[in-house]
Amino acid sequence: MAVLTRLWRARARASTPISSVAASTIRTLSSCSVANSGADLEAPSLLAQNPLPLRHGPKDRNVQWVFLGCPGVGKGTYASRLSHLLRVPHIATGDLVREELSSSGPLASQLAEIVNQGKLVSDEIIINLLSKRLEGGESGFILDGFPRTIRQAEILEGVTDIDLVVNLKLREEALLAKCLGRRTCSECGGNYNIACIDIKGENGSPGLYMAPLLPPPHCESKLITRADDTEEVVKERLRIYHDVTQPLEEFYRSRGKLLEFDLPGGIPESWPKLLQALNLDHNDKQSAAA
Ligand SMILES: [Zn+2]
Repeated sequence: MAVLTRLWRARARASTPISSVAASTIRTLSSCSVANSGADLEAPSLLAQNPLPLRHGPKDRNVQWVFLGCPGVGKGTYASRLSHLLRVPHIATGDLVREELSSSGPLASQLAEIVNQGKLVSDEIIINLLSKRLEGGESGFILDGFPRTIRQAEILEGVTDIDLVVNLKLREEALLAKCLGRRTCSECGGNYNIACIDIKGENGSPGLYMAPLLPPPHCESKLITRADDTEEVVKERLRIYHDVTQPLEEFYRSRGKLLEFDLPGGIPESWPKLLQALNLDHNDKQSAAA
């Protein structure tokens, strides 16, 4: 890991432009190189005072965000939309593994063995793939599916600075209904959701509406349910997620980087509110007008 981190920094330095922003860039790099030391406390305290993140990450680079959220919450969808809006790559670690597997990269055969044996891909391999993906000199990213554990978060902290962690939340009853409503067309592979979630607000808690995503008529008779989308399995998946990931929420909360966002409904209801929470609603109007 140490070697990897050194490589990372060497690459980052090599690509640092000498310009008027050089001083601030070097500051970013040096705070990266002293991760876990006192110097790192600077950013979180700033964020704690002003929890609204900036359009750009600190010091003239683009955002470096992480998306957290239960399985089924739709974090891939929101991460992907934001990556388009902010013009930064949306990096899903599942995609990284699939890409490497289908390439002739140095890790492909090692990965194939791990995946074929049904084992979990190690933190080292994931961070290795991630470093490789980021070394193209891209500024900014939105990570989806990583980190999943405290250990991964610590490794990531040693490699680069994360500005903000968006934790997408949805009530368990809605999550469950959404997972149980998933259907796939056995012919064209299209993904749909037949659940219509309409929870009435009561005792001060807001209501929640999520429209179904219904299939076109020609798919209707060919819908199938995934074998593991049963109530028991979905509840177990959510339990595991909470066990593993809740400490991660605390990890980022204590650093002043966690933004909790309760999804108020489906995409039409949630997207504008999410942009507001991220202080990006202005950007969206601009990009819609462009
Ligand atoms: Zn179909």
